[in-house]
Amino acid sequence: MFENLSDRLSGVFDRLTKQGALSEDDVKTALREVRVALLEADVSLPVARDFVKAVQEKATGQAVTKSVTPGQQVVKIVHDELKHVLEGDGEPGALKIDNPPAPILMVGLQGSGKTTTTGKLAKRLTEKEGKRVLMASLDIYRPAAMDQLAVLGMQIGVDTLPIVKGESAVQIAKRAKTQASLGGYDVVLLDTAGRLQIDQTLMQEVEDVRDAVQPRETLLVVDGLTGQVAVEVAEEFDGKIGISGVVLTRMDGDGRGGAALSMRAVTGKPIKFVGAGEKMDALETFEPDRIAGRILG
Ligand code: GDP
Repeated sequence: MFENLSDRLSGVFDRLTKQGALSEDDVKTALREVRVALLEADVSLPVARDFVKAVQEKATGQAVTKSVTPGQQVVKIVHDELKHVLEGDGEPGALKIDNPPAPILMVGLQGSGKTTTTGKLAKRLTEKEGKRVLMASLDIYRPAAMDQLAVLGMQIGVDTLPIVKGESAVQIAKRAKTQASLGGYDVVLLDTAGRLQIDQTLMQEVEDVRDAVQPRETLLVVDGLTGQVAVEVAEEFDGKIGISGVVLTRMDGDGRGGAALSMRAVTGKPIKFVGAGEKMDALETFEPDRIAGRILG
C-alpha cells in the first residue's frame, strides 16, 4: 500500500540539519513528498500543485515547536490546510428543503452511483428527518434505470412517480413536482439521466429540467475513486448547470479519496455526503477531518 506521509517526511527531515525555523529548502523538500502523497491519493495534478503552493507560503519561516519534529510539523500544517479546503461554509449534510415540495436534482455521469444515492438520500430524509419523499427517474433513455428506482422505492418504502411512456425528461420533472404538491410531499428527488461521458445534449436536457422545476438543491454525484475525471465532471456540471453540493460515492473502497480535495478546490461547493457501500443505509455526512487524515494516509 501507500507509505504514510509522516514516515515519508520524517525520513526527509532526518537528513536535514535541525534549525530553529522551517527554512525554505526544508519546506520545499518536504512538499515534494506531500505532492507525491496527494497524487497517490488521487488528487488531480493542478489541484495538488496549487495546494502545495499554498502550504509552502504558510509553512516557510514557521518556528519549529520543540515538542514535535519538523516532519510532524509539516504534516500538521498540511493536515490543517487540507481540512480548511475541504470544509464548506454550511453544515455538511444539511439540505435546503424548507418550503415543500422542495425539488432536489441529482446529476452526474452514468455509473457514478446516482440512482443508488437517490435511494439512500430518500431513505435518510424519510427515516432521520421525517420527510415525505417522492422519487422520479428522468432517464428516458434507459427503461432499466426507471425500473431500478421503482424497485429501490419499494425496498425502502418510498413512493416513486408512476412511469408514463413517451414523456420527455422535462415533462416527467413537471409531473413529479405537481404530484408532489398535490400529494403533500416535502421533497421530490429527481434522478436525471447520466451518460458515460459529458455530453452536450444531456447537459442541455438537465438545464431544461433545472429551468422547469427550479430545484432547491442540485447535487452532483461523483465516484470518489476518480481523480482527474472527477475534476472535469465537476467543472462541466458546475459551469453549465450550477451545482449546490457534491456527494462522493465509493468511499468504502481502497481509494484514498483525493477526489474530495479536487472537488472542493475546483467547484468551491460543499461536499454534503459520502457513499460508503451499496446498501441503502450506507450514506454518511461528510467529515472533513476524517477525509483529510485519509488523504494523508
Ligand atoms: P448510476 O448509473 O449513476 O445511477 O449508478 P448506480 O446507482 O446504478 O450505481 C452503479 C453501481 O455502483 C451499483 O452497483 C451500486 O450498487 C454501486 N454503488 C453506488 N454507490 C456506491 C458506494 O458508495 N459504494 C459502493 N461500493 N458501491 C456503490
